[in-house]
Amino acid sequence: MPGPTPTPVDSDLNLPKNVDVVVIGGGIIGVSTALELAERGVSVLLCEKGRIAGEQSSRNWGWVRLGMRDPREIPLMHEAIRIWQGLDARLGRATGYVQSGILFEASGTRDDENLRRWLRHVETLQTGGRMVSGPDLDGLLPDNTMKLRSGLFMPQDGRAEPQWAAPAIAEAARDRGATIMTQCAVRSVDLEAGRIAGVFTERGRVRCSQVVLAGGAWSRLFAGNAGIALPQLKVLNTVLRTSPVQPGPETSFWSDDFAIRKRADGGYTIASGHENTVDIVPDSFRLGLQFMPAFRHEWHSLRFRLSRRWLTEAQQDRTWLPTDVTPFEHCRVLDPEPSQKALRRVWAKARKAMPVLDRAEIVQSWAGMIDVTPDAIPVISAVDEMPGLHIATGFSGHGFGIGPGAGRLVADLVMQTEACVDPAAFRLSRFTDGSAVRPDAGY
Ligand SMILES: Cc1cc2nc3c(=O)[nH]c(=O)nc-3n(C[C@H](O)[C@H](O)[C@H](O)COP(=O)(O)OP(=O)(O)OC[C@H]3O[C@@H](n4cnc5c(N)ncnc54)[C@H](O)[C@@H]3O)c2cc1C
Repeated sequence: MPGPTPTPVDSDLNLPKNVDVVVIGGGIIGVSTALELAERGVSVLLCEKGRIAGEQSSRNWGWVRLGMRDPREIPLMHEAIRIWQGLDARLGRATGYVQSGILFEASGTRDDENLRRWLRHVETLQTGGRMVSGPDLDGLLPDNTMKLRSGLFMPQDGRAEPQWAAPAIAEAARDRGATIMTQCAVRSVDLEAGRIAGVFTERGRVRCSQVVLAGGAWSRLFAGNAGIALPQLKVLNTVLRTSPVQPGPETSFWSDDFAIRKRADGGYTIASGHENTVDIVPDSFRLGLQFMPAFRHEWHSLRFRLSRRWLTEAQQDRTWLPTDVTPFEHCRVLDPEPSQKALRRVWAKARKAMPVLDRAEIVQSWAGMIDVTPDAIPVISAVDEMPGLHIATGFSGHGFGIGPGAGRLVADLVMQTEACVDPAAFRLSRFTDGSAVRPDAGY
């Protein structure tokens, strides 16, 4: 079942022998990093094992939201929204970004009181975020049958088109001098006296002094082969898209039952607002203790299952030589099966809540593997024990919207210039320095 088709990005033909920075991974984080670095005059090579935005970055819901963020991510997300506002003009290409507003229903664990409490985290930022109820609320979602009592409305939140955005950023990075190689896995780092001296790709060696690992769900495997412990698991989320339908809601809406946002093609992207599948794999046991607070926090939304992934991951090499064919070459695009049960459930709930959807049909469904960390915030960090290596990964289901901001922060760290936001919360060493590592929902 092929996932959504991102705008194709052709590969450059020749692998450079020598660059300043190699970026591993052509998702929204890797391409945003490459763009920022190229704009600052740095020579950069981005290597993607499959196609640009083939994995999470084209499969996500397309939400660009500050609303209900972990407070530790708020400054970076605020910066990201500023970047999105000028991004199309900067790229000379469309990302589909629109500030359409997002409404979060007050229900379940996110009740009215919780939403109000979260709102306090952004009260100095002039977001226009407010609690809504009555006709105000119904006006945002005309003709719904849900009898909603209250919700949090974030007017500056919005959406972009995941199949357009990362490819557009990659092409713009190339315009500014970056080399973009697809079907080109990085197998391992090359070290001299413990420092980054280059990378080994499947097409040969490249010298560089800095590497950014932005490998999404593969980052743990890559880091592990380099001897670096990166706690990361994967969670599956299933998504559907509908045919165009009029007059559907402009505002995106998030409830426990379903999440919906309008697409540029006039259809809707719909998914369960909280249902995620966790395949039990060997890493579930290796990392079980570290993830316990996260499992507890998200218990109501996780469905654990034993599937073929157990065998796939159990049989996967965990270490290899630069001359070996690696797991990254065996799987060019991670394209998991969507859950039919989840699809049926969410489609029924969405149609019942918004009868306008009766006039639409499901035209595509897919799933994506979300890479998560134990505290559900990313790692955006230098690796102290391997000078020259940086990691930008673990965006835990909300990396699309924050991506352009993350790219800026990574570039700041690589170039050792003043960071656009304080990166301390995202340091890799939080997992080993005795810090309390747990999700913070902000309420
Ligand atoms: C179903 C779903 C819904 C989501 N909804 C939202 C949302 O609405 N809003 C939001 O903000 N976020 C959302 N997310 C999360 C968001 O999509 C991710 O956080 C974000 O795309 C992560 O970007 P990335 O660049 O880190 O990873 P990816 O997009 O997964 O990219 C990593 C890339 O690295 C490549 N790679 C890995 N290893 C190597 C190697 N050794 N050599 C070369 N290439 C390599 C992979 O092939 C891959 O293309 C959602 C995710 C999913 C799956």
